[in-house]
Amino acid sequence: MAEAISQVTQSHYPHPFKFFLVHEPHPNAFATPGGNVYVVDSLLYFVKNTEQLAGTLCHEVSHTIHRDAVARMEQDQKIKKREIGAAILLGPTLAQAMAISMIGELNSLAYSREVESSADVTGSDICAAAGYNPWGLVWLFQEFQNADSEQLPQLLSDHPVKVSRIQTLETHFRDKPFVFSKFNPDPKSATPFSLPKDASSMQFLRP
Ligand SMILES: [Zn+2]
Repeated sequence: MAEAISQVTQSHYPHPFKFFLVHEPHPNAFATPGGNVYVVDSLLYFVKNTEQLAGTLCHEVSHTIHRDAVARMEQDQKIKKREIGAAILLGPTLAQAMAISMIGELNSLAYSREVESSADVTGSDICAAAGYNPWGLVWLFQEFQNADSEQLPQLLSDHPVKVSRIQTLETHFRDKPFVFSKFNPDPKSATPFSLPKDASSMQFLRP
């Protein structure tokens, strides 16, 4: 899957894409500047089919191609500078209080809905080009909406799922029928994906 996605995306990014599987309890996936894409092993248990997993990888690669993480880090720096400037004016006690609130703010900084939708759209183009049904991302969002809030994966807090993200994708699919009409929107057509329960202890992913 990683190879198929790299093949259709590599010409859009100057550094080689590398995919890493990391062990964490909360299903998640994220991309860092430089071409590294991290997939948490728990996600492999959360997804129900190949298309959902492919959709997630394509979405993350799109963040990299769009250089979203770099833009967000620059935004973080701006917030930090502004808060430090304010803290100097206010004195040490208030400065400390602000430092604490700043940590919270930095942690809660997520991509905007526009940035997410844009990564969804590019991701769906990538999936289609790599031969994976791009409806997988829509199916994944539907999964999130149906999951009870206790079990909601970390992925959701980084990637707020809104009906509008599904709608943006559906509009994109309709606008480019020459690319998307050949893909089946019915989740029943998905390729089931499941791992043995003890897969993480098998060390099958040693470099
Ligand atoms: Zn995202």
